[in-house]
Amino acid sequence: MSRRGLLIVLSAPSGTGKTTLVGRLVERVPGLVRSRSYTSRVPRPGEENGVDYHFVAPARFRDMIEAGDFLEWADVFGRFYGTGAAETERCRAAGLDVVLVIDVQGARQVRRRVRDAVAIFVLPPSFGTLEARLRGRSEDVLDPSDLQRRLCTARREVEMVGDYDYVVINNEIDACVDRLRHIVLAERSRVGAMRETIRTVVETFEAVDPAMGRQGQG
Ligand code: ADP
Ligand code: 5GP
Repeated sequence: MSRRGLLIVLSAPSGTGKTTLVGRLVERVPGLVRSRSYTSRVPRPGEENGVDYHFVAPARFRDMIEAGDFLEWADVFGRFYGTGAAETERCRAAGLDVVLVIDVQGARQVRRRVRDAVAIFVLPPSFGTLEARLRGRSEDVLDPSDLQRRLCTARREVEMVGDYDYVVINNEIDACVDRLRHIVLAERSRVGAMRETIRTVVETFEAVDPAMGRQGQG
């Protein structure tokens, strides 16, 4: 019995905790995978090509745009980021639910192209907490202008929350992961997402002679 995987979009201002949350979410939810984006930014210390991102040169990224290789792409903080269309499709066709951790520009494109995409926005508890998390992220090498840029972008991004289907506040990590997990499970239970299973079950009813059904009661 094969079912097409869900497409889940998750956005949050940089520093909110989406990498941390989604890492734990995919560990806790079998059948859910995180999409690996392409980016033209350089790897941070500890990041690996093909693990955290596919790191590619800007020229290669532009070639990929030209070739129509992306489901969505955007310029975020002066660097390109994009979701490979073929990889995403392969996972969904194999019945895996795919979560895209992408910015608000990319989320808008996905929602236009994929009508049944599920969009989740993660909010930090406050602006002050976001700033503290951005400053505290040890592997990051943010200079003050980079930090200000991210915080300014965050102000614009939180205004987009109304365009999403769900919102979760990342106050406490485990509680937030739990809420995200429940959202995924609820989306998996939608009639639209269960069509194949429903058909298979209903077919077993259609195959039965109504007289036999009555026999069962007697
Ligand atoms: P993003 O991927 O949204 O940029 P990260 O996952 O890198 O954010 O998290 C930014 C920083 O905040 C990291 O140092 C992470 O450990 C920390 N963090 C994430 N969620 C929480 C939380 N609920 N409470 C405290 N710190 C958190
Ligand atoms: P970072 O450089 O901190 O890993 O990511 C910076 C921003 O780029 C984050 O807001 C993240 O959501 C966004 N991002 C990462 N991958 C993609 C992608 O494939 N598409 C889009 N549109 N944004 C992405």
